[in-house]
Amino acid sequence: MAEDTKIVRPSASIRARRRLRFARTRLRELRMIAKALVSTKHPVLVHVIPNRRCNLACTYCNEFDDFSKPVPLDEMKSRLDILAGMGTSIITISGGEPLMHPEIEQIIRHIRKHGMIAGMITNGFLLDRKTIEKLNGAGLEHLQISIDNAVPDEVSLKSLKTLDTRLEWLAQYAVFQVNINSVLGSGVKNPEDALKIAHRAVDLGFTSTVGIIHDHNGQLKPLGPRETEIFEEIMTLGKRSFSRFNEFQHNVARGREHNWRCRSGSRYLYICEDGLVHWCSQQRGYPGIPLTQYTPEMRHREYATKKFCAPRCTVSCVQQIAILDNWRDPQTLKPKPMAPASVPAPAQLVQIGSVPSDN
Ligand code: SF4
Ligand code: SF4
Repeated sequence: MAEDTKIVRPSASIRARRRLRFARTRLRELRMIAKALVSTKHPVLVHVIPNRRCNLACTYCNEFDDFSKPVPLDEMKSRLDILAGMGTSIITISGGEPLMHPEIEQIIRHIRKHGMIAGMITNGFLLDRKTIEKLNGAGLEHLQISIDNAVPDEVSLKSLKTLDTRLEWLAQYAVFQVNINSVLGSGVKNPEDALKIAHRAVDLGFTSTVGIIHDHNGQLKPLGPRETEIFEEIMTLGKRSFSRFNEFQHNVARGREHNWRCRSGSRYLYICEDGLVHWCSQQRGYPGIPLTQYTPEMRHREYATKKFCAPRCTVSCVQQIAILDNWRDPQTLKPKPMAPASVPAPAQLVQIGSVPSDN
């Protein structure tokens, strides 16, 4: 822990509410796993984007703009209704910066009204006590913040120094689970920062994960000896997190390709601000079909489709969901050729990158 940081504790009432919400969420997660093992017909995890706009401009990021309007609440609700109708278990709200959406609470409430697990990925800059209490009241269950460095630099302002007070507010007032993600690998100036961030997260009572970045050619590059030590230490610190079950990060750390079955387009969906279904944040543009027209047959086809980008993939949430199905149903189909006319202009293909992101 940094010397100038303090440990804050929640009140007895927050502790009691937190214990209750954690227990309920854990029960719902166990039900989610059982349902996913019994049937392969529904999406397990869906990322939705209520606004593409972000209040930051990290230089590595390809997932934001600084001008677009939020998706209207009614439109978000009807997308969530469709996803609930498909039997979706978990909805994670992402962006851009989701807290810039003026009706984010109602979006979370609508997710919970359908009985789905509600999560959010945010840069944390808009969090204050009042916002945290609103998120508590709306029923948020998971929140993740990605922190890139110990002090802000020209690449990213998402630093421990900038965010530490907000982390303390979360430790004091949040009744939902908080995970702090740090990064290691190509382009990370000071790997010791990741360790500092992870220790601070655990000291504040949060879970901690670490993402590994490829080099700029998207190549798998093994971590150096000190980075590997830091990686292993953070993975141990993060032992309460689901990520410990996942071997893929160890393979990426060693610079090895990973053998798995990506079920994006089926068990995992990425719904952009235009309401189109994509494989994931790093493969936007395919299949690029409106959610309203996305049939069970299309989902089942994607379930059986082998993804060319899987061996070098760094999208950890999709890999975690894939664990539920890796043991069954080998993928034998190839991606269908894309029909350009069906893809509106904003949804150009974004190939897998070599950069970290909140998403
Ligand atoms: S990485 Fe996150 S915080 Fe940074 S610009 Fe992209 S969406 Fe915004
Ligand atoms: S980049 Fe990863 S998550 Fe996205 S489609 Fe490819 S293998 Fe799947």
